Parts: sequence; C-alpha cells; structure tokens
Amino acid sequence: MTALQLQGLTKTYPGRARAAVDGLDLAIESGTLTALLGPSGCGKTTTMKLVAGLLAPDAGDIRLDGQSIRDLAPERRGVAMVLQNPLLFPHLSVAGNVGFGLRMRGLAPAEIAARVGPMLARVQLDGFGPRPPAQLSGGQQQRAALARALILQPRVLLLDEPLSSLDPSLRDEMQRLIRSLQRETGITTLVVTHDQAEAVALSDRIALMLDGRLAQHAPPEDLYRHPATEAVARFFGGVNLIPGQSQDGRFRSALPALTLPPGAPSGDRLLTIRPEAIVLGDGPNRLAARVVSVTFLGTQTRVALDVNGVSLQALTNPATAPTRGDLIQVSLPPQALWLMPRPKP
Ligand code: ATP
Repeated sequence: MTALQLQGLTKTYPGRARAAVDGLDLAIESGTLTALLGPSGCGKTTTMKLVAGLLAPDAGDIRLDGQSIRDLAPERRGVAMVLQNPLLFPHLSVAGNVGFGLRMRGLAPAEIAARVGPMLARVQLDGFGPRPPAQLSGGQQQRAALARALILQPRVLLLDEPLSSLDPSLRDEMQRLIRSLQRETGITTLVVTHDQAEAVALSDRIALMLDGRLAQHAPPEDLYRHPATEAVARFFGGVNLIPGQSQDGRFRSALPALTLPPGAPSGDRLLTIRPEAIVLGDGPNRLAARVVSVTFLGTQTRVALDVNGVSLQALTNPATAPTRGDLIQVSLPPQALWLMPRPKP
C-alpha cells in the first residue's frame, strides 16, 4: 500500500495565461479510493497526467511513500492509468491486451497465461480472452483496460472518468466492480470525475478541485455538510447561503436570530444549511415562513420558502409537503447550521 503526495504541483500549458494546475497540495492516504472531482477544465486530467508521467510539471513534486517519482519515466513510477476511452490494441486478443505489460516485463508465456485467466474472471470477462477487442461492448472494453492495468499490480491506480462513456445501467455495475476490486487489492486509487453523485457513491474521500487548486479534501459527507468555502457549498448544490454575524453562539442576519451549535466561530460569516436538514414544523430555531413554490421531484419535494424576505429551500417527503401560499413554521436545527468564511465584498 502506498501513500501519494502532491506538493505545490504546477503546470501551465504553453501559450496559456493561467496555470491548469496551480500549486496543488494533496496527500492521499495509502489504500484509499479518492475521487478527484471538479467542473470541466479545473485541471483534473492534467493532474492525472502529471502523476502518471505523461506530462512534466513546471514546479512541485510527486511522492510515493515519501520518495519523489517526479523525474522517473512513466513505466518506472509504479503508476497505472486507465483512460476515459480505453485504447486496447486492436491487433491483439483481449488476453493479449491484458497480458501485454507482463510480456514487456519478460515473463514466460505460461506464467502470463496463468495470471491473465484469473484477472479476466475478476473483471467478469471469463471466456472473452481469445476475442479481438472490437467484439467487446464499451463496458467490456473498459473492464479489459482495467484488467490490463491491475495485472501489473501498480502502487497507484489512476482512472480517468471510467464511467462517463457507459450507459446508466452499466455505470452502477462498473462502480461496484471498481469499489470491490479496490477493496480487495488495497491499491491506492484516484478516480477522476466531474459527477458529484458518482464521487460520493464511489470514494472514501473526495478531493474537490476548483480552478487548478484543491478546494477541499474530505469524506463525502463533510463536503455536503461542512463545506470549506462558498464555492464548495455551491458545487455541492448548496442553495441556502445567508450572510451575517456570529457572536456568543447566535447568528444575526436578515433572518430572526438563530442559535448556533457549540463551538461555532464568531465574526462575519456565511451560514449554510442543507435543504434536507430544514424541518417543516416546530422545533429549535423556529421561523415563520411562506411557501413560495412546491416542486415534486419524484422521491422528494422541493419547497421554496420566504422567511423575512430571505429565500430558503427545503426538501421534504412528498406525502407531507405543504401547498403554495401556506404560512408554516420551519425549524433550523442548530447542529445542521454551518458557518463559512464570508468573501470580502
Ligand atoms: P474535463 O473534465 O473537461 O476533462 P479537466 O478538469 O480534466 O476537464 P484539464 O483537461 O486538466 O481539465 O484542463 C485544465 C485546463 O488546461 C483547461 O483550461 C484546458 O483548456 C487546458 N488544457 C488542457 N490540455 C491542454 C493542452 N494540451 N494545451 C493547452 N491547454 C490545455
């Protein structure tokens, strides 16, 4: 098991004014599955290529268990990368593709065959070994590419948007496969994705990148409930963002004063609460609200509220949803309130 550390990693493409990766510091714990999440263009793929050695950084370091791999050739790093569109060699069979790296390492054909068979079974491609890659579906090709990477027992596995080209039913299956292979092998794995739901479902921890930098690195729940900044909150669908002042355990804003959880920091802050944490009904931090709109979303209903001229959004059970125009009581449980730094105007 191997820890991966990125220190001040920086890369600017020629002719570009802004760095694609800008002083990125990230410490990935050994044996974890981390999602590298962020909007299109935030520098995820560039980061992967720097770790894999397909690009050279302008500054910074990449370390495996404390040892720099920055100046090693890609094949000597112990890092395997599976690309979004798996490029299998068309002239080799599926088994030939999966065993390719072992052949390059000079293993005997019998030994390669002995390792390829179980690996194909592990990615549910039993019996597909003799086929040419062109006869595999997209999902099967992706699994063959995964097998080709895993058979080399890399210290770090990089997966670039492994699910994005698959249709939804295959996505779940591939997600489960990646998760179980990672647990079984314990290989430190970094998965690039721009899809927050995918990142949450797949990973132990999420490293959220915004504009080439690390915005937050934490377990998925923390990014939802305890975003470090407004930008993180917004990326995770945070809609209730209320500027105000925190003092002596109370929050003063355009809303009536709210009781904060113990230990809340004081000063100018931006308060947030997840829509699903707002209770429609009586409770602590009770407020009088007008129901502005009610939108049925399937498993939940979104309720837009007006409290003292402040817009809040709640998510609730469709069976108990109020009606537009209702005057209701809502409660903002103190333990669900989270304070972020307030951007300077
Ligand atoms: P996506 O999710 O769309 O793949 P990403 O987060 O992986 O995006 P990168 O591909 O790392 O982002 O790109 C980061 C920035 O660098 C973007 O502004 C992109 O336009 C730019 N970029 C990427 N590759 C090159 C290149 N070869 N030459 C110049 N600029 C590039």
